[in-house]
Amino acid sequence: MYTANEKRYEKMVYNRCGRSGLKLPAVSLGLWQNFGYGNSFANVEEMCRTAFDLGITHFDLANNYGHPYNGSAEENFGRVLDNGLRAYRDELVISTKAGYDMWAGPYGCKHGSRKYLTASLDQSLKRMGLDYVDIFYHHVFDPEAPLEEIALALDNAVKQGKALYVGISNYNKAQTAEIQAVFRELKTPFIVNQPSFSMLNRWVEDDGLDGYCIDNGVGLAVFSPLYQGFLTDRYLKGIPEDSRVGKGNTWIGSQLTPEMVEKLNALNDIAAARGQKLSQMAVAWLLNNKAVATVLCGASKPQQIVDNVKAIENLEFTAEELAKIEEVLKK
Ligand code: NDP
Repeated sequence: MYTANEKRYEKMVYNRCGRSGLKLPAVSLGLWQNFGYGNSFANVEEMCRTAFDLGITHFDLANNYGHPYNGSAEENFGRVLDNGLRAYRDELVISTKAGYDMWAGPYGCKHGSRKYLTASLDQSLKRMGLDYVDIFYHHVFDPEAPLEEIALALDNAVKQGKALYVGISNYNKAQTAEIQAVFRELKTPFIVNQPSFSMLNRWVEDDGLDGYCIDNGVGLAVFSPLYQGFLTDRYLKGIPEDSRVGKGNTWIGSQLTPEMVEKLNALNDIAAARGQKLSQMAVAWLLNNKAVATVLCGASKPQQIVDNVKAIENLEFTAEELAKIEEVLKK
């Protein structure tokens, strides 16, 4: 059995998510890769426990996470809960999502319908052994399904007591504004948008989604903050066999050009001058954006989580540091 570290709340920073009452840890744990049955359960469990022991109260899942089959990450997380973490349920913010391909036929596939979202949430709750999730997301904007239907399905999950808050993911500013208008009418507790965002992927700023969220009380939970591992010390000198790129578990491997490696090394030098690892600077840089409530980091080893949480030890940037970072990113 597991007993949590008594000092788990001493260092973590908690940010209000938008204008909601909910606070999220500055660093959260995402269970997309490395948490399914294709991975050692001992390592899965150790990563979850390491996170919670460091004050990471937020665990981000989705119906389709995990290998060798969709849902295996939620099943594994249910086992982690059973092995002791469930005793801390009221200290946890657990999220899940539906919106990508999940099961056969027209009701479990990309992108959304009330039918899909409702059935999927029931399945997720069963896999994790939960009565409710804290946040239920629509995973990706659907160009075909009416937004009113998606909003009603999410609202219904709240009314049924199966979710406390709702969120959307991969919605741009215009799409966010459109669905937020429906949520306002329904008085749905819509508090968060989950977009990709990192030093190497800044569409959120270009689109103005971050400014919109600040103005309209929505928090951002940003995914792939380390650009799937590029913004770490992993690839500074080549491609390690056990890395996401080395294992072929990502589509961005071809972007690891000599120019990219040079850029990562230049960023690493700026981080070193700040007394940080590149991954820590990448996390701190995101938290410098006032729209960002939490940074959803992935991990393959417990030590990476320990490292990433240390980002909160230096969250401030001088104007000179920010300018230097911009200069490198522009190249
Ligand atoms: P990251 O950008 O944080 O990449 C995580 C990977 O980076 C790890 O698997 C590991 O790679 C490497 N890494 C992490 N920390 C360190 C460290 N300290 N030192 C060295 N390497 C490190 O995010 P992900 O792409 O994993 O996404 C994070 C979460 O965001 C997901 O788990 C999920 O919850 C969410 N997400 C949501 C999506 C959506 O559509 N809403 C889409 C994608 C993600 P390695 O395996 O090589 O060791």
